[in-house]
Amino acid sequence: MITGATRLAGVIGDPVRHSRSPMIFNAAFAAAGLDWVYVAFPVAEGNGADAVRAMPLLDIAALNVTMPHKAAAASACDLLGPDAAALGVVNAVVREADGRLRGEATDGLGFVRATRELGFEFSGASVVVLGAGGAARAIARALGAEGARVSVAARRTDTAVAAAALAPGGVAVDWSDRNAAAAEAQLVVNATPIGMEGEVAPIDVAQLAQHAMVIDTIYHPETTPLVAQATARGLRAANGIGMLVHQAALAFEHFTGHDAPLDVMRWAALDRAEA
Ligand code: NAP
Repeated sequence: MITGATRLAGVIGDPVRHSRSPMIFNAAFAAAGLDWVYVAFPVAEGNGADAVRAMPLLDIAALNVTMPHKAAAASACDLLGPDAAALGVVNAVVREADGRLRGEATDGLGFVRATRELGFEFSGASVVVLGAGGAARAIARALGAEGARVSVAARRTDTAVAAAALAPGGVAVDWSDRNAAAAEAQLVVNATPIGMEGEVAPIDVAQLAQHAMVIDTIYHPETTPLVAQATARGLRAANGIGMLVHQAALAFEHFTGHDAPLDVMRWAALDRAEA
């Protein structure tokens, strides 16, 4: 039951009504026995920083932040965790006990935890990241921190160079050379939207090594052309649900200080995916 004591959390974005976060977090709060509730706040572009600054006024305990507010929200925080500071974006904002707003970026570590869960060993592994936007940058930094050898392939060289620079020794690859780079990789990550509309895979899966693992950060549709083709070839492959669940679990821990009920959160994410 929601009472006067219930703590409020939510997600700001535009659009945001399609978000899975309310299902994932409300299921997690219930499983953890926490008197919290989580809602979606549609916040128009340009108002992200003001929405974050309104948290103390409305006694909002924590917010997730999605497109297009991730950079604006970072600018409105009083302090940033190391990943958020390096990336210049936040996807979670929490109010500290002293009232300060702390921004965190959990996508990169969320990706690492999800991929490690599949048995991948990062240290010394060669990884090709396709794309150089927000997700790719978070993943490149997190992979670098785990000791992987990171290559970033993107259609705009400047963005590929900037994303690769987030990983020690990271290398930018021309988009036209992505298949050759991916053929040498132990892990290939799609962090572009290619496949969301069910179109082609972003690389030629036939050229990948038999031992390669493939992760598509896309989770809707659940089976992208990349995942379908990699699975058909007998490669280890997964979609972005694991990353989604683990970045949310890390945010839950920042918000509440409690361990995240991972299985409940995964179930809530998948249940929505099938809806
Ligand atoms: P973003 O910031 O817009 O970056 C997209 C990247 O893909 C950019 O480098 C963009 O290049 C490139 N790209 C787009 N269309 C392309 C095309 N047709 N050919 C080649 N490159 C193309 O988006 P984002 O937030 O990083 O999201 C990227 C993907 O990650 C989305 O599919 C999203 O669903 C997924 N994601 C998943 C999770 C999760 O938890 N599983 C979290 C975040 C994001 P330009 O800069 O040249 O346009």
